[in-house]
Amino acid sequence: MSNFQESLEKYAKLAIETGVNLQTGQGLILNAPVEAAEFVRLVVKEAYAAGAKNVHVEWNDEDLTYLKMKHAPMEVLENFPKWRAQGLEEMAKDDYALLTIYGENPDLLKDIDAARISATSKAGAEALTEYRNFIMNDKISWSIVGYPTRSWAEKVFPDVSSDEAQRKLWDNIFKIVRIDKESPVDAWNKHNETLRIAREYLNEKQYTKLIYQTEGTDLTIELPKNHIWHGGSAVSETGTEFNPNMPTEEVFTMPAKYGVNGIVSSTKPLSYGGNLIDKFKLTFKDGKVVDFTAEQGEESLKHLLDTDEDGARRLGEVALVPHQSPISQSGIIFYNTLFDENASCHLALGKAYPTNIENGPNMSEQEMDKFGVNDSLVHEDFMIGSATLNIDGVTEDGKTEAIFRDGNWAISFD
Ligand code: ZN
Ligand code: ZN
Repeated sequence: MSNFQESLEKYAKLAIETGVNLQTGQGLILNAPVEAAEFVRLVVKEAYAAGAKNVHVEWNDEDLTYLKMKHAPMEVLENFPKWRAQGLEEMAKDDYALLTIYGENPDLLKDIDAARISATSKAGAEALTEYRNFIMNDKISWSIVGYPTRSWAEKVFPDVSSDEAQRKLWDNIFKIVRIDKESPVDAWNKHNETLRIAREYLNEKQYTKLIYQTEGTDLTIELPKNHIWHGGSAVSETGTEFNPNMPTEEVFTMPAKYGVNGIVSSTKPLSYGGNLIDKFKLTFKDGKVVDFTAEQGEESLKHLLDTDEDGARRLGEVALVPHQSPISQSGIIFYNTLFDENASCHLALGKAYPTNIENGPNMSEQEMDKFGVNDSLVHEDFMIGSATLNIDGVTEDGKTEAIFRDGNWAISFD
């Protein structure tokens, strides 16, 4: 067996065992590009080997997506088929796990009218509200893994041939998700342990505020009382430990939706709905974006912020990632949030993970609002970390402590 084939099989096994941690008798929903068919077959084989009762594959194809976005009438884009949402909900209710194989072309919809894109994503987000709740509340186990589609690889490595670009992106992905280690599963367990120590430290501290400062950024983020930091593996409602993102380097919690003030500048391009938004600044007042500029993709950014009443203008996640994380050290801009968010401190516009606050998954809409938990049709991470970012935490008794200095932890966890 070639080295590559061996790595591919290890990757498929890792996605099933460590990613979703599929249990005997459980079903699996698999989202994947048709281009990844060969890899998908390996994953499905691993799923059945792990005891899956059924694997349902939701294929996507970027050429077909493009054609639909280009030609379908607006009324089709504005109406996400109910039967699709119902089918997904039905499987989630039956405790299917969800694995997404992800490798989007960041420029796919560059020449499509932004209003058509936002109508499509809004319709999808509305129709999938209940399904999304299964995922964002960790009711089911779910995971996202990367796959180097040709168009994505060409974007990341524009100076080499298409084949070479894909090979290079595979090499990087394998390294980043620890496929090069003797036992990737053990390596992940060790990594999760490091993230556990960091999140427990922060949970103990219960900072009331985080203060971000660097060139172009001066932002204060209040944290709600009883917020919970997560990072690394999570546990589903049925008690299965799973890894939502592979790779993952972040610890994250929720900001108070009315307690964000100041200005923040992006430090990496954001791939959003087949378009890139780059070099943007957001100004917050009482939690809401009241002003914004972008050097690239300002129209897309505007549509993102205007997705709903004001949920998309408020924050739903604050995540800490050291600048010396292995992904960041690769020096590569991936144009793919799964990778770029794990190379950089980031925030997310939109819905908060209810699991980031005590009793969050059981709160009513009114309670969520009262405790400062943001709700929205979107959840979109954007990167703000750099080698010069400083972050301070303010304790309940008003003391200010260093959390990050020059982009890295100011705390030693030994
Ligand atoms: Zn994140
Ligand atoms: Zn996020």
